[in-house]
Amino acid sequence: MQDNIDFLPFITGSFAKPASENPTVMMIEAAYRYHNINARYLNCEVEPKYLADAIKGAKAMGWIGFNCSIPHKIAVVPYLDELGDSARLIGAVNTVVRRGDLWIGENTDGKGFLKALEMVEDPKGKHITIFGAGGAARAIAVELALAGAHTIIIVNRDKYKGNELVDLINSNTKTKALFNCWEGKYKVELSTNIVINATSIGLFPNVDQKLNVEFDLLRKEMIIADVIPNPPNTHFITTALEKGCRVLNGISMLVNQGIIAVKYWMDVDVEPFIMHSELAKVLKTY
Ligand code: NDP
Repeated sequence: MQDNIDFLPFITGSFAKPASENPTVMMIEAAYRYHNINARYLNCEVEPKYLADAIKGAKAMGWIGFNCSIPHKIAVVPYLDELGDSARLIGAVNTVVRRGDLWIGENTDGKGFLKALEMVEDPKGKHITIFGAGGAARAIAVELALAGAHTIIIVNRDKYKGNELVDLINSNTKTKALFNCWEGKYKVELSTNIVINATSIGLFPNVDQKLNVEFDLLRKEMIIADVIPNPPNTHFITTALEKGCRVLNGISMLVNQGIIAVKYWMDVDVEPFIMHSELAKVLKTY
């Protein structure tokens, strides 16, 4: 056997269902190759009834961590030993990190979004409107509040979820949160600095889906963000570009989440361009 070759890679991966439309595996493995990290990332489709077995298997095989996505982000919590601060507040985990014998749950959804946003604008003191109150919206709202947003308006169809998120922000942070029920065309207030689509509207294959929003009220001074990574050029993003707004698509959030996850697992700072260029190649759309 040749010296300096280790045939046993670190194993990381993802448990989700569905899993096939998620390009995370490509960008993370590209980063491992670029940084000469002897690790693999396995994209696994896991039925809810097998989540416990999947986690047991990961522990038995010595995985060093994994992502979990829909529908496991809340269900995974009872199997973990500790939660990071924002995961505890959000009530959901999308990144599990092994520290010795302990499995720690973190949430990088909001952290990835925040890191991407901070490259364009500091959310501190800003008036923000978020469409949606699901997992992504919850994570983003919590991180923006912890980062010092002045006001967050949650716009959602389901009143219960919307109000629950508003209560969470108001009880745990200094940000003032308000709920608006999404009925008919939503009129974004002119004083809004940042508008975020955190719903699943526009996600492949429903690429023609549009937000029920009065688009004429978007102003070029506003930052428009969309969480949808596939395709990145959603109707919301292209409309905002036509209005001259600064935009942030779902790819920036995805890349920054990947960077944070690899930092947790490998303690390596990934070069963002390697993940961006791999996604550009596989998604062929940006
Ligand atoms: P959830 O199922 O938890 O939440 C979905 C949200 O979308 C709910 O608020 C729901 O409203 C709303 N919604 C769905 N369809 C409509 C519609 N037709 N009109 C109005 N509202 C609608 O999903 P997640 O929050 O976990 O994920 C949302 C999106 O975020 C996904 O598309 C996912 O791909 C993306 N995402 C992107 C990431 C990235 O890194 N770029 C990371 C994580 C997620 P209601 O409550 O009223 O049903």
